Amino acid sequence: MGGTNADGRGPDAQTPPYRTEDRSGIAGENRRHESRGETMDFDVIDARPRLLDWAAWALFLDIDGTLLDLAPAPDDVVVPADLPQRLESLSRRLSGAVALISGRSLENVDRLFPGGRDVAGTHGVEWRRSGKVDIVGAPWPDELTEWIREEARHLTGLLLERKPCSLALHFAANPKIEAEVHSLAMTAAALSPIALKLVRGKNVYELVPAGTDKGKAIERFLSVPPYAGRIPVFIGDDLTDEDGFKTINRLGGLSAHVGSRATAARYRLNSPEEVRHWLARLDSLIGDAP
Ligand SMILES: [Mg+2]
Repeated sequence: MGGTNADGRGPDAQTPPYRTEDRSGIAGENRRHESRGETMDFDVIDARPRLLDWAAWALFLDIDGTLLDLAPAPDDVVVPADLPQRLESLSRRLSGAVALISGRSLENVDRLFPGGRDVAGTHGVEWRRSGKVDIVGAPWPDELTEWIREEARHLTGLLLERKPCSLALHFAANPKIEAEVHSLAMTAAALSPIALKLVRGKNVYELVPAGTDKGKAIERFLSVPPYAGRIPVFIGDDLTDEDGFKTINRLGGLSAHVGSRATAARYRLNSPEEVRHWLARLDSLIGDAP
């Protein structure tokens, strides 16, 4: 993080920094910034004043590749020791308005982050607030899993992950089979007795009941307490997070992408480590606020 804030304080003195390449959106009102190259540092203190009320934020956080470093297989991820406490602290400071928005199943999220947190799992198909779970969409057809397993026998390196409401086809162990996995998944979706959509992630295709996505899940949180009326902030890294970014942009919140690809998100953080550092700063900033 470079640069000095408009009031002369150093970058660590006041605000959580974002990095952005897109100044047309939330940062668009600020004409004092001049680009210093492809990527510019951005301090949120220069955004619209109403966005700076951190204590009025609602935080929506993707897990893999955002809070946690990616691992070769979903079960290999490591939760840093201080992260659950950090989320707990932020949740207290934000009156409970912190939710995890993940492609993982609820059950799987609970293994990583126990405690019955607010979660949208399986890309929004499973939705839990204050301990109450709702399932959006039709039950997963087990016969389809069997059909795919049979058809995929020759695809070395393919890992089928049966979730309560969906089926993920992971090919990280053998990226060369991507085209075949895609074709198989498309055929399966066409044959399925329920409406499915194909969700693409990093080295994974996932068949998910149609009708919801991460953006809709976030919007649903924002329709109820303690999220309603708050400024939504969503951080994510994957293609499946783009629905969330678009929703946040439309609602006038803050969207941040982790990584360097093209994205609808207005702000950028470089790595899960940077996200965790950012959350730590936010935690202390809200804590220090009068
Ligand atoms: Mg992710």
